[in-house]
Amino acid sequence: MAQQTLRPALLERLPSRVVGLLREIGALGDERGCHVYVVGGVVRDLLLGHVTLDLDLAVEGDGIAFARAVADRYRTGLAVFERFATARLVFPDGLKMDIATTRREFYAEPALLPTVQPAAIEEDLYRRDFTINAIAMQLNPGQFGRLLDVYGGQRDLRARRICVLHAGSFQDDPTRIFRAIRFEQRFKFRLEPGTLRLLTQAASTNLIQQLSGPRLQNEILVLFAERDPARAIARLAKLKLLRFLHGRLRYTMDVKRVVLAVPKAFAWWGSRSPDAVIDRPLVYLMALLSESSPAVIAAISKRLACSREQATKLSAGGKRLDRILKKLTAKGTLRPSQVYRLLVDLPDEALVLLVATQVSCQQAAQLSQLKRYLMAYEKNRAIATVLKGRDLQAMGLKPGPQYGAILGKLLDARIDGAVASEAEERAFVQKRIGALGDC
Ligand code: ATP
Repeated sequence: MAQQTLRPALLERLPSRVVGLLREIGALGDERGCHVYVVGGVVRDLLLGHVTLDLDLAVEGDGIAFARAVADRYRTGLAVFERFATARLVFPDGLKMDIATTRREFYAEPALLPTVQPAAIEEDLYRRDFTINAIAMQLNPGQFGRLLDVYGGQRDLRARRICVLHAGSFQDDPTRIFRAIRFEQRFKFRLEPGTLRLLTQAASTNLIQQLSGPRLQNEILVLFAERDPARAIARLAKLKLLRFLHGRLRYTMDVKRVVLAVPKAFAWWGSRSPDAVIDRPLVYLMALLSESSPAVIAAISKRLACSREQATKLSAGGKRLDRILKKLTAKGTLRPSQVYRLLVDLPDEALVLLVATQVSCQQAAQLSQLKRYLMAYEKNRAIATVLKGRDLQAMGLKPGPQYGAILGKLLDARIDGAVASEAEERAFVQKRIGALGDC
């Protein structure tokens, strides 16, 4: 086994309080007679010269008892997942740490979650997805910073390649197919040829079909949360993986243009509404589905076990949005209330997508018109009528469907500036009630 120590210069990239904490936790390992390691992404990123504070610790021994001891000492929040022999700690300053018992895993059936059994660190590293994620760094005093790199992780980091640890890896866990694309695109590494062959083989079967909705959704959205999801989406398409979302989903040139335009749409949106919280990964998914029919979108929502909120947002996109975009970019001018009515049911994610779609068309005049409408809408969506249903009742109108109709017209008039005060609202409503009486 390679005996190496992480270069101090790399370790120093971590905040000193984190290094101090890791040293103390290593000392706690000695006190309790167990070996403690930090593993996975943090070590990989340190070796690449990056800093990640998503700390994954592995303990040779009872990881959960160790996690409880750490939680007691540092008064952290603690959540224990007995089935997976893991625990999550949240330190008072917000730092998160996962602590797990080192284990081997058995996959009773492909694509299902494994059963786990305690094992030595070497076996724990062997169950991991790729060599670059299978490097551990020991924390015990005397061994602090010692790297355990049994499977050539550093070699593959240097060669900039993604490599599985064994031939059955993608069969055991097809989420690794998406993880491979994630790391390949993020680091601009390439898939080692044998790994690419195994991935293509696994992707050509129906293994991914067997993944549960939440697991597939997680992989897709985590991939779309990367800095440049357009590359990952193109890769999914090239590897014919989009069919696992829906058999009719195609990555056409038009869809590609919309996906590529999303960053510009985010930039514009962010400059207008810096505080707006946009579900960015979902916008990328919506961009990918921008030519899909409502039926295809509904099927994808179901496949991904989307929450009601996610499904509602997704269903606002697709072909349905084309009709709205056409009206907003047509010649002539819409009244502010007409714009309001076109947009009022759309979530912000769909508004961003409207901009991306129009950016992708490269028609400057229509894009400016759309942006003008959206800016006006931003202001108008806060407008409310002074009069409410009970006021209409007090004015003598019997409760019924005409309430909604009159209040809707009143809001339109407010938005268009035709009424501007409570007195004018009352006159407006009075006139409508009168007209009803005349009928
Ligand atoms: P990121 O930088 O995207 O967070 P990460 O490598 O830290 O990447 P996590 O999902 O946090 O990824 O997982 C932590 C570690 O757990 C990984 O580095 C890897 O060693 C292991 N791991 C995670 N998911 C899998 C999987 N599906 N199969 C095998 N090992 C996995």
